[in-house]
Amino acid sequence: MRTAPALEEDESLLLQHLADGALLTELPALLKISARKVSTLYGKLCDRLRAPRKPAVLLAICYATGAAQPAMLDPSDIAMPATERELLPLMAVGMTLKGMAQHLGLSRGMVERRAQSLMENLQAKTWAQAVHLGWQYQIVTADVVTAWLRTGAIGDTASDARPARSPALYIQAREAEVAETSRALCLVRGRSGELPVLSYWDQTADDRDEQGTLWARHSEVLSHSGRPVGPAVPGRHPIRQFNTMRRQRCRVGFCPARLDLGKGHAHLYLVTANELLPDGSGYRTVEPPTCIDHALLCAETEPRLQDGYTALLVSTSTISGVLGKRFAPLDDGINVGATRDEREFHPYADRDAMRSVLAYQLARDLTSYKPIDLRRLVRASFQTAPLSRPSAPRSSRPPGRLKSHPSDQPA
Ligand SMILES: [Zn+2]
Repeated sequence: MRTAPALEEDESLLLQHLADGALLTELPALLKISARKVSTLYGKLCDRLRAPRKPAVLLAICYATGAAQPAMLDPSDIAMPATERELLPLMAVGMTLKGMAQHLGLSRGMVERRAQSLMENLQAKTWAQAVHLGWQYQIVTADVVTAWLRTGAIGDTASDARPARSPALYIQAREAEVAETSRALCLVRGRSGELPVLSYWDQTADDRDEQGTLWARHSEVLSHSGRPVGPAVPGRHPIRQFNTMRRQRCRVGFCPARLDLGKGHAHLYLVTANELLPDGSGYRTVEPPTCIDHALLCAETEPRLQDGYTALLVSTSTISGVLGKRFAPLDDGINVGATRDEREFHPYADRDAMRSVLAYQLARDLTSYKPIDLRRLVRASFQTAPLSRPSAPRSSRPPGRLKSHPSDQPA
């Protein structure tokens, strides 16, 4: 790495204005010096740092050599598609749109559209400001800039600009959490004439929801604040999924997910074609909604959405049933076994069948909704903050087990 030359006060000010999105032609007015003096100041600074005369590159070199150091921001606060992220390091090393198109093997028009979307996403006025923000969010790093300074070559920016990994969802099961054995289940025969009911040998009140349906037990590994911890594993945690879906909280962090749209409220669901009901009357899903802050992150990183999804603003939905397995007595008449390996949808309305079902996930039918452009919605929410931000304060307190909560919304 090059040694960092100390910056003069006027040089720091000039950099600051470039980072804030000022054009070179605006600098004389901002710095209150003549255009010629600005030109000399800028030229000398570029020469000293051996930077080409491109503000975006000058900033990147200043940051990478430690000549200047902007305040860093939390990378998880920015949700940006990989196709836009990968442009930032290229901007930082002074690549033109044409060069980017060649480097990425894309058409110039495609790169231009992505660059435009990137600028809108970052609300950046200039490439220099975009690089500055990219540095703050740790998308542009010293590694890529210093490697370019040393070798003149750009590494695989895709790896430097890898999209955020799929977050560990609140509803996801964690490595150390264990499902109850099916040997803990039995069929309890009621009074004569009554159908037997699936139960646990040591059943407690917590094992059933308000409709009387029996839920799969699963141990929980929670932090002191009640959050699930440890590596996420495939599959949903039955109780966390139940609570999140029932209350329509955010799938990522159990954040409030009800959006205030001015004329009413809605929840944002990201659904796939698989969830469309056969008669086309709506969607049936076991995937809870997302809050506006986590929406793009989900859309860009959740494996289930990578083959395409539809973003819906859902104004009406109903809890309709569960994904579960039906159990029947085994030959010994004591133990029970699942009648099928796969989990299937069982409607709450079929009360007789529900008596022998073990529930794993709560299903909701989305009946009144509007498909929307997710990126536009997220952008609008940042521009008109009070309109579509979550309407309730964030609560970090997770709920208890299969119980209602004072702040529950009606289904
Ligand atoms: Zn959220």
